[in-house]
Amino acid sequence: MLSVAQARQRILDQVGRLAAEDVPLREAAGRVLAEEVRATTDVPGFTNSAMDGYAVLARDVAAAGPANPVRLPLRGEVRAGVAPPHPLQAGTAIRIMTGAPVPAGADAVVRVEDTAEEDGAVLIRASVSAGTSLRAAGSDLRAGDLVAAPGRVVSPGVIGVCAAAGRTSLRCLRRPSVMVLTTGDELRDVGEPLEPGQIVNTNRYTLAAAVEEAGGLVLDAGVARDEREQIAAALRQAAAADLVISSGGVSMGAYDLVRDLLAQEVRIDFWQVALRPGKPLAFGSVRGVPLIGLPGNPVSSLVAFELFARPALLKMQAREDRERPRLWARTEDTLSGPPHLEQYFRGVARRQDDGISVRLTGDQGSHVLRSMADANCLVILPLKTGQIPAGGRVEIIELAPIR
Ligand code: AMP
Ligand code: MG
Repeated sequence: MLSVAQARQRILDQVGRLAAEDVPLREAAGRVLAEEVRATTDVPGFTNSAMDGYAVLARDVAAAGPANPVRLPLRGEVRAGVAPPHPLQAGTAIRIMTGAPVPAGADAVVRVEDTAEEDGAVLIRASVSAGTSLRAAGSDLRAGDLVAAPGRVVSPGVIGVCAAAGRTSLRCLRRPSVMVLTTGDELRDVGEPLEPGQIVNTNRYTLAAAVEEAGGLVLDAGVARDEREQIAAALRQAAAADLVISSGGVSMGAYDLVRDLLAQEVRIDFWQVALRPGKPLAFGSVRGVPLIGLPGNPVSSLVAFELFARPALLKMQAREDRERPRLWARTEDTLSGPPHLEQYFRGVARRQDDGISVRLTGDQGSHVLRSMADANCLVILPLKTGQIPAGGRVEIIELAPIR
């Protein structure tokens, strides 16, 4: 039997990072940068005003105060998006708007709140030092500055600096295409009437959602009946994918049958992982594409996806943050399970004054999808532990924000 960590490492050893592609800036959010982005010009390109107010020479207003305003003749106006009409003459002021280029000769802006206009002049009621309310050319980026490094996940802020640096597209790692194949005679699609003994194919939807959340693109292979021809037919399309994820059939050995049919094209090992839920796991390759065979039980399937498939997808995208945050919490429930299995309970964690506390999401059966829907974390009962009493410290994996 493999430990969870051993099984994950074996899988990670078999997947590599994908190639890069050009992505329009507008579609790059959430993607992983595969290049170094540098500024080609100074940003901002010209010194401009940080305030609505009056461009002045600081020394002209050195004596200004609320009780003794300095009066400067007003010589025109400059708005954002246009060049100043003329340089500033000493002893005068030019009205200026936020973002407008500062006229040559001016070295500060007095904000409008500290002024009043009167008969073609402006009364300045506050002194300013040189540089006040100016945004200097190059104060955001200098030509040649590193804007973003490879491996960065492109955020709205990164998009902003890349746009400012003049980039219309970015070189990002390709998103992995993931073939999702569900197997089982009992499965019907959402919305189809259920005959006795049939169930809704929930894994087709949960796994697709999990793939997308991990940055993958879903190639939905639908459902295959538990017949080797059907499974083999679906797997023959695997060459279009970067990863195949299947659910079901791993314990009853459906793939054993498939192996005979596809001969050299599939290589599949059946693993027993010291894990609950999700003990049986298949791993191998179809036509050179890695395949992870998840258990069919809806909760096992998602937990095993989380522990094995998600890290593989993130590795393909060269994501550095492959692990979700792990935190320590106090358990409100007693956790128990067989000591030879690592157990992942579903929990709801809450922040409290003295740390995080976590309670279980009710019935922990591997068919109880509700336990997954309600959860914001997985609660780990480590190998060789057997029991952690209520009030004890537990490690949790944050799946959704803990409040
Ligand atoms: P299996 O791994 O195929 O033996 O399936 C184990 C359990 O999970 C059985 O109760 C199946 O009915 C159920 N199951 C398998 N595949 C799915 C699926 N795609 N959606 C929902 N339940 C499933
Ligand atoms: Mg099945």
